[in-house]
Amino acid sequence: MRINYQDTITYAQELDQQDKLASFKREFHHPVKKGKEVIYLCGNSLGLQPKNARVALEKELKKWAEKGVDGHFEGNDPWFKYHHTMKKTTAEIFGAKPLEVVIMNNLTVNLHLMMVSFYRPKGQRRKIIIESGAFPSDQYAVESQIKFHGFDPEQDLIELKPREGEYTLRTEDIIGEIEEEGDKVALVMLGGINYYTGQFFDLEKIAKAAHQVGAFAGYDLAHAAGNVPLQLHDWDVDFAVWCTYKYMNSGPGGTSGVFVHEKHANEKDIPRFAGWWGHNEEERFLMNSNFDPMIGADGWQLSCSQVLPMAVHRASLEIFEKAGFNNLVEKSRLLTGYLFYLMNLLIDKYGTEAIKIITPSNPDERGCQISLIIPKDGKKVFDALYNNNVVVDWREPDVIRVAPVPLYNTFEEVYIFYSILEKVLKDIRFKQ
Ligand SMILES: *Cc1c(COP(=O)(O)O)cnc(C)c1O
Repeated sequence: MRINYQDTITYAQELDQQDKLASFKREFHHPVKKGKEVIYLCGNSLGLQPKNARVALEKELKKWAEKGVDGHFEGNDPWFKYHHTMKKTTAEIFGAKPLEVVIMNNLTVNLHLMMVSFYRPKGQRRKIIIESGAFPSDQYAVESQIKFHGFDPEQDLIELKPREGEYTLRTEDIIGEIEEEGDKVALVMLGGINYYTGQFFDLEKIAKAAHQVGAFAGYDLAHAAGNVPLQLHDWDVDFAVWCTYKYMNSGPGGTSGVFVHEKHANEKDIPRFAGWWGHNEEERFLMNSNFDPMIGADGWQLSCSQVLPMAVHRASLEIFEKAGFNNLVEKSRLLTGYLFYLMNLLIDKYGTEAIKIITPSNPDERGCQISLIIPKDGKKVFDALYNNNVVVDWREPDVIRVAPVPLYNTFEEVYIFYSILEKVLKDIRFKQ
């Protein structure tokens, strides 16, 4: 679909008037600086606080105050069952079956737990393929797993690099590398959306290529969760992990989610690190010594549910449910498409020596984030934006990430960001 976007504020306001999701903005707290609401385009790093989070948290605090330990089993919303109440919406957002998902722990912890089960080097087959420039935590996690098994990341970690002069990876190159390494590959583990470039990988094709050489495919969906449409079950992904504090708005250090494909649901003998919360729920409190894992993703749980962070996450999921994830995706494409259009106007005006886009132009290959390279005085541009009440984020050496989020950002905000950036770029240019 080709849209004839226009670069005027009245046009942006018209789009807001037509936006059926516009009222959701008021369901979030927007930070205020210098007495004014900031233009918050940083949901890729930490999503804003939904107003219902406090209500949900207070409900659990009250329960704890009034019931103490009885809160685990009493009432119509006992803590014992808490993680189950998030399965339905989670499954919808991730294109999974309820049995395939569970909310638990934090992201990097879950990545390790998944690799315990799905990185099982044997003989020649011991390599992990990741994208070069993966999020540092993922890099550390895979390297330490390789070392844990007594191997050397220098040999057994393959990092996919873009072609000379390009910023993003081509699907054919990713698949080419998997095929070339063939039966030496144990695991393909990519970020679903690369945190730096905003590139959304073709997760289905990559999983298929991994399986064809006999490897597992697992994804870190930190930047994809709540951002892009996913079909983890149909794409035959073996496992996935994500955090909930970015686009899922569940608070700093909030809880995390895990997907394990149904085909592994009954593999009770799969190697795993076990804990009592993964044990057969019917018998959990009999305190047996024989571990009998729950079927599906639940069997990977270790500890009792972290009800307080989960209460915030559940409140956030309710907003997703109310808005409808497909509606959000539809708005997101229009909103980010608008940002993309406006950024291209700046490129036309000031040239690529002043500003470049490294995020793919194809809407199927990105979510809501657009990464800009500001080759000269990038940090100054970032600081100037910040001083103008715009919150985006800065990545060394020269990247500004901008993420309009369909739940709480408007077309007008995107326009205002553009007009401020335009002025900042102009000022810097004339100062030279
Ligand atoms: C945000 C992010 C993390 C952060 O990990 P935590 O365990 O939640 O601190 C890890 N990996 C990726 C790809 C991320 O985007």
